[in-house]
Amino acid sequence: MLIQIKCQARRAICLLLIVCIPLIAGCEETPQPTALERVRDAGVLHVITRNSPATYFQDKNGETGFEYELSKLFAEYLGVELQIEMADNLDDLFTRLNKSDAIALAAAGLVESPGRQEQARFSHPYLEVTPQVIYHKDQRRPSQPRDLLGKRIMVLKGSSHAEQLAALKLEMPELEYEESDAVEVNDLLRMVDEGVIDLTLVDSNELAMNQVYFPNVRVAFDLGKPTNVVWMVAATDDDSLLAEANKFLDQVSQNGTLQRLKQRFYGHVDQLGYVGAYTFARHLQQRLPRYEQQFRKSAQEHGVDWRLMAALGYQESLWQPEVTSKTGVRGLMMLTQRTAQAMGVANRLDPMQSIHGGSKYFAHVKESLPGSIQEPDRTWFALAAYNVGGGHLEDARILAQKEGLNPDKWLDVKKMLPRLAQKKWYTQTKYGYARGGEPVHFVNNIRRYYDILSWATQPQLESNQLADNSLHKPAINKTPPKEELAPM
Ligand code: GLU
Repeated sequence: MLIQIKCQARRAICLLLIVCIPLIAGCEETPQPTALERVRDAGVLHVITRNSPATYFQDKNGETGFEYELSKLFAEYLGVELQIEMADNLDDLFTRLNKSDAIALAAAGLVESPGRQEQARFSHPYLEVTPQVIYHKDQRRPSQPRDLLGKRIMVLKGSSHAEQLAALKLEMPELEYEESDAVEVNDLLRMVDEGVIDLTLVDSNELAMNQVYFPNVRVAFDLGKPTNVVWMVAATDDDSLLAEANKFLDQVSQNGTLQRLKQRFYGHVDQLGYVGAYTFARHLQQRLPRYEQQFRKSAQEHGVDWRLMAALGYQESLWQPEVTSKTGVRGLMMLTQRTAQAMGVANRLDPMQSIHGGSKYFAHVKESLPGSIQEPDRTWFALAAYNVGGGHLEDARILAQKEGLNPDKWLDVKKMLPRLAQKKWYTQTKYGYARGGEPVHFVNNIRRYYDILSWATQPQLESNQLADNSLHKPAINKTPPKEELAPM
């Protein structure tokens, strides 16, 4: 009897164990989803960034910027949607990166730094930058850290530069500087440009993107060695998403995509050069305001983008109304006599007539392109035709077709255009010799100017700009909080 009861009890315990063990084990084994799984399950990659020409901004065509485009490619690589979140400042960025499960990644032009080791984990690098001390060209140029003493210096709060200055202050306790969480890099550069502060410290990529807006800022000296821009994830041991990000970054750096992206966003620096960049900035402030309304009006009338027309005008004449070339083209939009007549322009040297005629002509050229050429290529083809003429462009398209390339793709046709200057090739064409390299440079340059103007007039800034018309010369004589800052 006793034995029987014992047996029954043992059986009951066994049964209990059989039922419970998997349950208990199951509880232990239900793992939290990893960062990568969370992104995949949600189907969305939430990326936090800053609003800057070097990172993320909106132009008339929507969201863009180096970090945006790179993150978008990463989202595509993961097979998910990209959702951009904007940080108010760097402290906010790191707090949200670590506190919120929703934010997967920071892609905000951030450099790796010792102080950030605890705040985040870093991806493989994708851009090399140098921290630079920036001063006003009319001031004495500082050349070494000691020259920072006694100057009004402001940097972004929580930035790698604040960290650098804090380290410097240990060596030079007299060093004074202000950290602000109410400004962005372009605000700092504007303050130097206008003499509101003496110096700031920004990374070379930020300067490269912003130099074209601020004619008075110059690099004083590099403060320290080149360093790496990286993506960052929360400081946990979950490296699932980071590992994917690294795989992706390695891939785009090997297959040339990263290089193309750098060229697209930073290419103007090579193209314009340092002097060209601040000359552009000066012209943006001094010359464009005289013609901006006319660009807007004419462009609207002819259904084209005024920024593109302004970029075209800059390429043609640097926004100078009385330019005349050896070949007889004249005026702000450099119209030939024939074109001017056809467009109803009586006086080519009148900038308003020139802009009107140029926009009308551009719209007409674009309209006459074959229907098979889609945007955005259509715009690049139209610019090329504006420069070299529709006949020569057609010749280059035929050459492209003969070579097995796509005659409707600008990337392909621009390879053919320079051939129009070589006898071997132009003798096979209907319209013959042309300086075919020119339209290629022409289109490249205009695309750069267009990008620059797109940042300066991005929709979220534009309402302000229209309100106070201070796009080109905001009046700031104190250090205002961010909301009060006029757009660039
Ligand atoms: N790259 C800087 C950082 O990581 C922020 C922006 C800049 O000034 O370049 O803190």
